[in-house]
Amino acid sequence: MRVINATGVILHTNLGRAPLSQGAIDAMADAARYCDLEVGLSDGKRGSRFAWLRPFMCAVIGAEDVQVVNNNAAALLLACTVLGAPGGVVLSRGQMVEIGDSFRVATMAGAGGVRVVGIGSTNRTHLRDYEQALDGEGPDAQGVPASALLWCHQSNFKQDGYVKEVGLAELAKLAKARSVPLIADLGSGSLGAGLPAIEPTISEYLEQGVDLVLASGDKLLGGPQAGIIAGTAKYVERCRRFPMSRALRPDKTALAALHATFAAHAREGSPAIPLHEMVALDEAGLRARAQALVEALGWDESRVVPLQAAIGGGSLPGDTMPSVGLWVPCAKPSASARALRLGSMPVIGRIEDERLLLDLRTVDPQDDALLRGALASLSDA
Ligand SMILES: *Cc1c(COP(=O)(O)O)cnc(C)c1O
Repeated sequence: MRVINATGVILHTNLGRAPLSQGAIDAMADAARYCDLEVGLSDGKRGSRFAWLRPFMCAVIGAEDVQVVNNNAAALLLACTVLGAPGGVVLSRGQMVEIGDSFRVATMAGAGGVRVVGIGSTNRTHLRDYEQALDGEGPDAQGVPASALLWCHQSNFKQDGYVKEVGLAELAKLAKARSVPLIADLGSGSLGAGLPAIEPTISEYLEQGVDLVLASGDKLLGGPQAGIIAGTAKYVERCRRFPMSRALRPDKTALAALHATFAAHAREGSPAIPLHEMVALDEAGLRARAQALVEALGWDESRVVPLQAAIGGGSLPGDTMPSVGLWVPCAKPSASARALRLGSMPVIGRIEDERLLLDLRTVDPQDDALLRGALASLSDA
């Protein structure tokens, strides 16, 4: 069921993460019927499900080869299962991230049966820790040389103080010298344009010498749920050929939406994608919408309040942006929040300091009239 997201969290995991662009929605609807999923329209022969999208994605990302799977967790499972055998993948304890709903990167990396060789301590990992694991030394390695290095971007938390992490470029050098692949789980995959420049992009990771970058389609890319495996052709090919990849492949509608999303990214300037548009909204425009709503509802002007919105989705920790919203007049915030959720067009707000707040940054301006209707029917407002 569709809902209006007035939480101010743009990539709200519980509300379906990235809202898709109209282009992606149309592409999904088209693909939902018969489509040219596995047929070449020029020769009428059977083709690969991904043949038409692969070169395009490679060109936009700047990668030698790309494989798409169901989500980033699937990308992690596949890459580590294929490249981590027989000796296991090395992962610093400082990067053993829990991504939400108690899913942990180290557990998913090893779910296919490969060993995950933990090295370093929570706050400090040195190059020699990686070297030892590749030599089969250290308590977790147990005499078996590791087969791959895994890097995980600390996408949803930050470490401060007495900390040390080996840089990606240095790790890439070690991987090359030892002829083992370096896999980097970026998580919130971004292509760069239209977002605050504090998150690394897929291409930046590749430029630093990562063999396989893993990224999510529905985080900073603003597309459908998908996992992207981008990088060196020989490693991507091994992932593609591995039987497990059939069990992890995306459906035709996700591929269609991913194509439309990449097409938006390929155009000049900030991508015409709701995520990027919501990030770019200015406060003056948001305030004008809030004032119009308050006026139409007959509320006091003091009900227009400054708020802080966030990108969310386990990306960009601590990175909030000024926003504007409504402070709903009501006696019992939780009861009114429930009434709004149960309306014919559910509205999801947030409660802070006993105030029911609706952030307009995450509300499509075209839904302002629906929001007004929902608020007008609140009995205790
Ligand atoms: C979000 C995230 C994942 C999982 O991605 P999904 O697409 O939700 O499966 C894996 N690793 C990192 C670092 C993440 O941030």
